[in-house]
Amino acid sequence: MSRTSSSRPVKNGNPPCSTAPSNILPRPRVRAGSNPRGALVRANKRSGSVRFCRSEQQPSGSIPGTVASGPSTNATTVPIPADHLSSRGSFALPNNAEGRKLTDLLELLADEFFEIAARTVKEAGEPSYRMDQLRRWLYERTPQAFSDMEGLPLSLRDHLAERFVLHPLDYDLDMLSEDGTRKFLWQREQGNDAGRIESVLIPEGDRVTYCISTQAGCPVKCTFCATGYGGFSGNLSTAEIIDQVVQIRMRTSLVPTNLVFMGMGEPLLNFDGLLRALSIMTDSRQLGFGSRRITVSTVGIPERIRQLSRAFPQVKLALSLHAVDQGLRDELVPLNLKYPLDEVLDAVREHCDVTGKKVTFEYVILPGVNDSADDAKAVASKVRGIPASINLIGFNPFDEAPYRKPALKSMLVFRDELDGSFAGEVTLRRSRGEDIQGACGQLSLKNRPAT
Ligand code: SF4
Repeated sequence: MSRTSSSRPVKNGNPPCSTAPSNILPRPRVRAGSNPRGALVRANKRSGSVRFCRSEQQPSGSIPGTVASGPSTNATTVPIPADHLSSRGSFALPNNAEGRKLTDLLELLADEFFEIAARTVKEAGEPSYRMDQLRRWLYERTPQAFSDMEGLPLSLRDHLAERFVLHPLDYDLDMLSEDGTRKFLWQREQGNDAGRIESVLIPEGDRVTYCISTQAGCPVKCTFCATGYGGFSGNLSTAEIIDQVVQIRMRTSLVPTNLVFMGMGEPLLNFDGLLRALSIMTDSRQLGFGSRRITVSTVGIPERIRQLSRAFPQVKLALSLHAVDQGLRDELVPLNLKYPLDEVLDAVREHCDVTGKKVTFEYVILPGVNDSADDAKAVASKVRGIPASINLIGFNPFDEAPYRKPALKSMLVFRDELDGSFAGEVTLRRSRGEDIQGACGQLSLKNRPAT
């Protein structure tokens, strides 16, 4: 039986417009003027208990999954922890009515799936070819429930429903923007930590991008990010990460051309879940998605950037930069206190060396905070020599944030200033889905239950 709630409306079909205009804005050559930096809101005035400190200090709060800080490790000696691709994670398995443990099928790596599927098919007294039928249903046809798996005997469908969970996420609602962006809100199953999570579908020309979450909320608490203001209730299981892809495809019939880990949470703080999800996404026996069309976005954890480069060298890396001044980045991205930008950039350089790929720097423009001509020159100077492109995006305001929306003219000035100093490509991205709380975390923040 599917775990998707049957009591909630399910919006199938009606794919959103897939011909949204390019998000690359025109490039008039306007030169920058001065732009004094305004007063900043201190991160330590924020609610919540997590605090970060410099690497020689101990953090005063705990962050699940945070790696110990230490000296940079040479890229040639970074081991991939042996248990990353073998552990099943620590998520709580839900029980069925008889109290029997149910297994999330989407949690399983390919070898695990075949092992369990072979045993299950044999138990049910069915021939072994049913195993491949089940595999195709699971990864290629994405049914809503086991009962939808036509071609499998009814007795086998019942047998599966008694033992496995098909969709660990309950659909809650979705919102369609006038620009075609579609945002989904999911409710996590009981048995896991409570919390709602978001995913976003972004159609743009021939591209269909799914933006996927890895955590319920986020412990990093960046001051410009709605997710950071919504609290943190835990890492997603691998099945919950994969189910976002599966259910968006099931509900929209829009096959993704790109997958980006830019939703709620810091992916490298859910490293086991991320690595397992990448394996399931890219294994040709499972989702079979091309590694080159997957992007992992991080605020920067040096050791895990190195490990990711080794484990999935074809996967693209995006670094959320937002500032290069140590003090300012400490304010905007509190994890910078534990992992200073210089150490992060060392790991990024190694990533480029190991993978032969360039990196993308993401930079949210905060008026009066990080958008002066001096800021642009400092950014270009800091990342010089790293094969990279820079994506700029204007801050998308929400009630809790202490920043205002930047004017288009000032963003273009900043872009041109940066473009004049930086050798790589600089692109000003159009903010998507503003009418549906399109920025990461805004929808769940707005729809969270009253406490
Ligand atoms: S920007 Fe990313 S790391 Fe920072 S609070 Fe938001 S989700 Fe977390």
